[in-house]
Amino acid sequence: MKKQYLIILLAVFLIAFFPSCKKGTVYKTLIITGQSEHNWKASSPVLKQILDGTGMFSSEILITPEKGGDMASFNPDFSKYKLVVLDYSGDSWSEKTNKEFVEYVRNGGGVVIYHGSSISFPDWKEYNEMTGLGGWRDRNEKDGPYVYYRRNELVIDTTAGIAGSHGERHDFEVRTRITDHPITSGLPGRWMHGSDELYQQLRGPAKNMQVLATAFADTAFDGTGRDEPALMVINYGNGRIFHTTLGHADEGGGPAMQCVGFIVTLLRGAEWATMGSVTQEVPFDFPTAAGVVLRPDFKEINFEEAFGNIGSYDIQKSTKYFTWLQSQIRKAAGDEKALLKLEKKMVNILTDKEASVDAKKLLLREISWMGTEYSIPAIKGLADVTELKDDVEFALTRLQVVK
Ligand code: ZN
Repeated sequence: MKKQYLIILLAVFLIAFFPSCKKGTVYKTLIITGQSEHNWKASSPVLKQILDGTGMFSSEILITPEKGGDMASFNPDFSKYKLVVLDYSGDSWSEKTNKEFVEYVRNGGGVVIYHGSSISFPDWKEYNEMTGLGGWRDRNEKDGPYVYYRRNELVIDTTAGIAGSHGERHDFEVRTRITDHPITSGLPGRWMHGSDELYQQLRGPAKNMQVLATAFADTAFDGTGRDEPALMVINYGNGRIFHTTLGHADEGGGPAMQCVGFIVTLLRGAEWATMGSVTQEVPFDFPTAAGVVLRPDFKEINFEEAFGNIGSYDIQKSTKYFTWLQSQIRKAAGDEKALLKLEKKMVNILTDKEASVDAKKLLLREISWMGTEYSIPAIKGLADVTELKDDVEFALTRLQVVK
């Protein structure tokens, strides 16, 4: 009897706690920064915020000695971490530290190479093998071929020439090239990225490397006219490296780091580098070719939260949630079911006595072009509200039902 009781207890314990154990795993992460042509004081805290915000990573920022400082004192114990993120393009590390880093990756350590880190360590052979492609710092044909896409074909181009450049910053389209990789699985084929530098003419050993996504370097923005690699994965020994050229930082992150495409690919890349698989779902605010979607506070805007906030909108407030709603409507274009779901949520706010007049004005404008018959009774119900009289009339006229 007592034994039976223990077995039941054990079973209950396993059922109750085992799944949460796995889900609750937090990966210790080291972000290395401290020297860069870039504003690392802006980017590193944002990287930490993005990673830690998932609850999946727990990261610490390690600042190296200043440029020209004693690099022998920079000697982290990489083996304590599941993931190392490089936001660094400064002085060479000591030979001992280099050796330990290579050892860490060979033994299965995960690495994320972020934006300006593509520039680092031109003379460190193993580093260049880990990043696959790099640029600047006198790199040229001796460092490896150019790699890019032309007419949907991957091109390995050994033409002599400089490595690394970018034109002026702008919003640009990213194309997913490999769709069955854990990082890109489920992402749209094309999506818009927030104003960024588009790295081009990168060259390197490109061994054991896959180009997951490219960005078209438009000649109108001093681009090469090629589809340049933007997201890459590299296998090195037992280690996995995710290399993103995206995410040039402004103070507070700016559009390139606030871009949902940057955030989500960084997180999925970080998880893949750590575990070799990706458990994170593609969030519903992921951009498409229709336009850039930003997360100003780096957190995913959730459906209920967004509609909760839209109802209390007044003209003093940020239009963040309306921008979100508009992007949702754009994304749902052609999908009647998704549009009706949004329309129903909008009508709930129109009929909510607590919701603000300013919110209703903006919603009436949206509904006037994307709404259906479903909205009409709710709109007519607002005809008595003096401040909304014109907006109601306008919406009903656009919906072609005014009698
Ligand atoms: Zn940059």
